[in-house]
Amino acid sequence: MDNIRNIVILTGAGVSAESGVATFRGPDGLWEGHRVEDVATPGAFVTDPHLVQKFYDERRAKLKTVKPNAAHEALAWLDAEWKGELLLVTQNVDDLHDRAGSRRLVHMHGELNSAWCLACDARMPWAGTLLDFPDCPECGQKYLRPDIVWFGEMPYYMERIEAALAVCDLFVSIGTSGAVYPAAGFVQTARACGAKTLEINLDPSEGSHLFDESRQGPAGTLVPEWVARLLQD
Ligand code: NAD
Ligand code: ZN
Repeated sequence: MDNIRNIVILTGAGVSAESGVATFRGPDGLWEGHRVEDVATPGAFVTDPHLVQKFYDERRAKLKTVKPNAAHEALAWLDAEWKGELLLVTQNVDDLHDRAGSRRLVHMHGELNSAWCLACDARMPWAGTLLDFPDCPECGQKYLRPDIVWFGEMPYYMERIEAALAVCDLFVSIGTSGAVYPAAGFVQTARACGAKTLEINLDPSEGSHLFDESRQGPAGTLVPEWVARLLQD
């Protein structure tokens, strides 16, 4: 771990699993009982807006019942202590990294606690429900949707992420299946720019072979160990 100054960390649903938040594709291949195409595409919102609003309302409500785990806390500690550049890129739409205290953080797939108005394009913090199609506080129209990046939509912060990947010395992927692009391709970008690469995941992921090192086990145990070692070195 010598000569590490700039770090990019990518997290996925696995980092929140030990907090009790279901991962994307459970053992049944479904997200909380739904086919991904039925709740996470723009087409699904056109076909059945009530189902989609209800699905994300339930996920948003669930956030109030869960709390950050040791992995979120260790990453916040690293953020506070690390003197070099650091960017935590999460695919997660939950707020557990935020609540743990991570500051150099971007939500590339949006956030449950945010709403987006399709009429006036405003984005705003949102803690309540959307199934009741409330008025947009900005323009008064009833076109609010979850501020979540669905399949086929452009992830947020891509320029900032690409810039961080280009100069990072270490890229670490935690709790992600490596099946969702463009995030799944970050390891190759980082490698091409000369970074060392580490994966921490419960099982081997689709992209495990792309990493210099792949550690298998629960994030709540392996991430605090990795952070403590990195800060000690
Ligand atoms: P995924 O569900 O496809 O993959 C999760 C990975 O985490 C799996 O490889 C699994 O083996 C691993 N995992 C499970 N438990 C773990 C643990 N305790 N420790 C370490 N690893 C563990 O998730 P993804 O790759 O993040 O892709 C999911 C997409 O779904 C994202 O776009 C995201 O927006 C959305 N999503 C978000 C949340 C959330 O915010 N918490 C939850 C579900 C889905
Ligand atoms: Zn509006």
